[in-house]
Amino acid sequence: MVSSVRAVFVSVLVPIALSPAGAAAQAAPPMTSANQSAAISGVRYEVTFDPTTAARRTIRVAMTFDVTGQGPVMLSFPRWTPGAYEMSNFARSVSNFSPTSGGRALGWDKQDFDTWRIRADGARTMTVTFDYLADSLDNAHAWAQGNFAFFNGTNIFPYAEGRPFDFSATVSVKTDPSWLVTTGMTPASAPRTYTAANYHDLVDMPFFVGQYDVDSTQIANKWVRMASWPKGSLKGAERTLFWDHQKKMFPVMTSLFADSPFDNYTTLIVFDSASGGGSALEHQSSHVGIYTPLITQSVLFPSITAHEIIHAWNVKRLRPADLVPYRYWQTQPTTWLWVSEGITDYYADVVLSRAGIVDSTGFVILTQGKIEETTAAPPVALEDASLSTWIHPTDGTAYIYYQKGSLAGLLLDIMIRDASDNKKSLDDVMRELYQTTYKQRWTGFSSEQWWGAVSRAAGGKSFTDFNTKYIDGRDPMPFASVLPLGGFRLVVDTIREPRLGVSSLPDSTGVRVAEVQPGSPAEAAGIRSGDYLVSVGEIAVRDQTFGEQFRTRYARAGGTTLPVKVRRDGQTVDLQIAVRLAERTEQRLTIDGAASPKAVRIRNGILKGSS
Ligand SMILES: [Zn+2]
Repeated sequence: MVSSVRAVFVSVLVPIALSPAGAAAQAAPPMTSANQSAAISGVRYEVTFDPTTAARRTIRVAMTFDVTGQGPVMLSFPRWTPGAYEMSNFARSVSNFSPTSGGRALGWDKQDFDTWRIRADGARTMTVTFDYLADSLDNAHAWAQGNFAFFNGTNIFPYAEGRPFDFSATVSVKTDPSWLVTTGMTPASAPRTYTAANYHDLVDMPFFVGQYDVDSTQIANKWVRMASWPKGSLKGAERTLFWDHQKKMFPVMTSLFADSPFDNYTTLIVFDSASGGGSALEHQSSHVGIYTPLITQSVLFPSITAHEIIHAWNVKRLRPADLVPYRYWQTQPTTWLWVSEGITDYYADVVLSRAGIVDSTGFVILTQGKIEETTAAPPVALEDASLSTWIHPTDGTAYIYYQKGSLAGLLLDIMIRDASDNKKSLDDVMRELYQTTYKQRWTGFSSEQWWGAVSRAAGGKSFTDFNTKYIDGRDPMPFASVLPLGGFRLVVDTIREPRLGVSSLPDSTGVRVAEVQPGSPAEAAGIRSGDYLVSVGEIAVRDQTFGEQFRTRYARAGGTTLPVKVRRDGQTVDLQIAVRLAERTEQRLTIDGAASPKAVRIRNGILKGSS
């Protein structure tokens, strides 16, 4: 996932025959017979979104299956959508739950808050119908407005509790004849009917249904589709440019991972005027983005898109062992989101550069933004930030594994290239682990496998110290020592300037002091919050530019004292304030003009993919 608001922050199919997913896909929750459903088979879901259900903002679902075992059938809903690491409890949006067999109503109760227990009473075939309220404008959820809806399989496709997830299923969509259906699922012979080889694939293929724009093109021999809502929101030159960006980025990614794991790919876009930024969620052959319409003017648009598509390799397939297979009924914390999200975001910048969508200056600006956000956040270990995402910490460290993890990727890439004279890189690490822990046998990678691959790429160099300090530890990242090896330099400017120590807010009667910093010259002078500033030295305070005027006018007046007038309770109060210089630092990432030939080769390796 990625988001400018929520780190935000997002499949053609894993071929059935290839099925490296085999072992993983068959894993099922450990269950006792007491909470294990009767076996079921022949699962098909009929999904209705038409003008009638659209008016109620609901999606009507009918799940039909054969009952092949004894005892009650227990149907559970996922509690979360992979990629959006938070408990969502989709069962809360279910209503009118009704199981029948041959037109006969079957008895049921709740096994737990998201599991329905149905008495089979000898039924060999069962149909369960329910309504799902599509009212959450969140790419992990379901949302309907007017003649449009999107939904995720995790929202509306229940599974048999305690049974393997290797069952195949079909989905048929009933909608208005003039409305569209778009999904990454494999089309079956019947119209608007699709198949999935197993439950993991089934719930990893979100749908658009209704009226929206859709078109497609072939990129590197694969069909890529793009659907955008509302109709007409992405058109003309903007749509052409966005297609152009996708045409450039796919081949770079395929070459990066030396594999193209999907048959086709679908980009699903919702524009929301109320959204302040953007958020997108990845799937194995598609992603759903919810964006402000303004994003089309920003590099964020191709950047988030690259991030989500890279996820088709990194996290949807190459994945930490903790996340293989997905366990939809419980939280699934991992220490590795700095790789799954952070390094995905590093490669988003790298891909934009290698694809020629941004130049080296653009790469530097994107990276500098990550340095600023990392520096501004409280010190936190990447592993801890990753584990904690399930509770969305409020201490300023939430989601920092995106930016800080991306920087860890950059530093590791430079260190591997430096140690191997640019013959190996982080690209090799990703490719090796993709092969060994996904394609050959889908186990997910362990810590030993990750650091082993990093060390091998770097000719045997140990990264134990790096891991201890910057991944498992909270030390400041070693930008000053590592970046120059890759032809970049972090220039730190120290600025000394006078500071009053107040924050202020203008209102209709003047500039009001909102806060006085403890220990500041303003506090020593007796300025209080609620005072209105009238003048500071020779500066008449009319608006908030007074701070800048003050810093300029008295830049060399450290150690002197100035008269200050404030208005307090209708009276003018005369005070004296000491001018004190404070230091602050500004960090700028630059291309190092004096880089060694080796560092230049490393920089070109990163930015252009050349060795
Ligand atoms: Zn992501």
